[in-house]
Amino acid sequence: MPIFAPHLTKYRTLTTFNDLGLNASVLSAISELGFENPTPIQEKSIPVFLENERDILGLAQTGTGKTAAFGLPLLQLVDFNAKQTQALIICPTRELCMQISRDLTTYSKHMQGVRIVSVYGGASINGQIEDLRRGAQIIVATPGRLIDLMSRRAVNIKTISYVVLDEADEMLNMGFREDIEGILSVTPDEKRVCLFSATMPKEIRSIANQYMKNPVEISVGKANSSNANISHEYAVVHAKDKYAAFKRILDFNNESFYGIIFCTTKHETQDISDKLIRDGYNADCLHGDLSQGQREKVMSRFRHKAIKILLATDVAARGIDVSDLTHVIHYHLPDDIENYTHRSGRTARAGKLGTSIALLNVREFYRLREIEKLTNIKFNRVMIPSAMEVRDKKLLAFIDTINSTEIEESFFDDVVEKHLKPILELDKAELMKKMLSLELRRFSAEYMNGPDLNVAERGAAGSRTEGGSNETYGASRGTRLFVSIGQKDGLNVGSLKDFVSNVTEIPNANIYRVDVKGVYSFINVDAEQVEKVMTTLHGSEYKGRQVRVEVSGNESAGGRTRSGGDRGSRGGYGGDRGGRSYGGGDRGSRGGYGGDRGSDRGGRSYGGDRDGGSRGGYSGGGDRRRSEGSRGGDSGFSGARRRTEGSGRRRDF
Ligand code: AMP
Repeated sequence: MPIFAPHLTKYRTLTTFNDLGLNASVLSAISELGFENPTPIQEKSIPVFLENERDILGLAQTGTGKTAAFGLPLLQLVDFNAKQTQALIICPTRELCMQISRDLTTYSKHMQGVRIVSVYGGASINGQIEDLRRGAQIIVATPGRLIDLMSRRAVNIKTISYVVLDEADEMLNMGFREDIEGILSVTPDEKRVCLFSATMPKEIRSIANQYMKNPVEISVGKANSSNANISHEYAVVHAKDKYAAFKRILDFNNESFYGIIFCTTKHETQDISDKLIRDGYNADCLHGDLSQGQREKVMSRFRHKAIKILLATDVAARGIDVSDLTHVIHYHLPDDIENYTHRSGRTARAGKLGTSIALLNVREFYRLREIEKLTNIKFNRVMIPSAMEVRDKKLLAFIDTINSTEIEESFFDDVVEKHLKPILELDKAELMKKMLSLELRRFSAEYMNGPDLNVAERGAAGSRTEGGSNETYGASRGTRLFVSIGQKDGLNVGSLKDFVSNVTEIPNANIYRVDVKGVYSFINVDAEQVEKVMTTLHGSEYKGRQVRVEVSGNESAGGRTRSGGDRGSRGGYGGDRGGRSYGGGDRGSRGGYGGDRGSDRGGRSYGGDRDGGSRGGYSGGGDRRRSEGSRGGDSGFSGARRRTEGSGRRRDF
């Protein structure tokens, strides 16, 4: 089982597990797992569970450490000297069922006599009946299978003292309400109930009112809001270009992409997966037509990263518990808005950072607004990178890999040297070209000549609001600043705001439109605060790195693109409203290439050397165009710059 403790240190809780009232055997199991501090939901739930007689209604997303939040106190409260079933954990999917029982087994490894049995659909019921016959103090079950087992009298839940309903909103979405009510109605009145849900729709409240007694309400994060470590993005393309746009996202992210792509139908899932495989990607799919065996095989390959691109329907993806996904992609938005939170919650688990991208065609755009309203999520538009940008990114990564590879001398014995001879006879440039051609073989002429895939959002101009304010997306509010630190420095929206506020003494609320990317970020501050930011934040240090701040041209509301030259000028959206190109910088790239390119083309590469800056990074590589109205060259922090009128076309850097 992976250990996620280093990431969870960002919760910065002062409480330790020792403070929560847990006994020695539980404590030693979790310390062996590397859990150093409780997560917020654990900190709040465990003492209540242990000390109180009250029910618990917990609002928490997946990946927040819920299983240990209810599992650890449960293991302490259940009497393992007795044989009868005392606790029942109900959850929506077999994967989650298996995961919970695996976790509980690990947490109870220093206890004697523990019997945990999991029962779920899609597996032989007879084996499960056998397991139950041998006794289980804790049963972990999916609702349908449990009802089935109850009707066969294979399980007795009349004696239980604890019921946990995990991912209750998912269970309702999946139509399990009747089953859950059927189960709860057979359990004794004096039991304790603990219900966890990522969202709190009316139906959950109604279950809580009916089956729980004056529950303690515990919430981590805001109701219906999403994990702050997820960057919510969207791109708008024509329906016919979706697949091409998706491939560019994959190509742009290179090897670092590890994600789930949500499709609407089994057919679409299979179809895109087949196409990807044909196009040379390492992909597979999960949908309802697969047998349990096939499903488990796909999941195991995905978990072990033998495949890093998984296409799935909502139903098939339920219960997938993989902790370090970098991306969730919505090939279509879900019909049920609540599902958006569930989908995107598959990334950024256990304190990590993740990106959720909705690939929209023009007709789908209104659905995004609905999701925004309901969930309070702030979406940022990103631009699908041009084919050339993708190629450049690949090139930089390739050059970086070659540069940073250590030569393993011991590998070069006489035989190898002999085989190498024909290659060594090639001249340097020829060899390089051959290697590059290999690396970039996917970039056929067709790909390279591919058009700009971004389209304007119909009816979107001037009407898209952000964060509940009346601010028009694309209109000027405050001044957009580039800040040279980002996700790779361990920052998220909250921590960047805190840092900027500490250094500049500008209140947190006056730092807005914070957009944290890989190696850099953007923030907006009111125009009169810019000078203050420049004198305090610019030149300050974050974790030993010098922070650079630059006024970001006319991007006060729109962002940026990375296109070079005149390429991409067809995108009306990008020019007028300032789109931000997808992806952002790659910290690993070396600056030399970016620098040369920057000066040739009057552009710059985000891939520039972040430490040096002068070798083609943000400030040094070539002149930059900037728009009227922004800070001039007297600022002392800009390089050689050329001013241009800034509207009407995509900006290049
Ligand atoms: P869950 O929300 O229960 O699915 O947990 C998400 C992941 O976080 C799981 O892989 C857990 O093993 C891990 N985890 C849970 N609690 C902690 C903790 N206090 N410290 C470190 N990792 C944890």
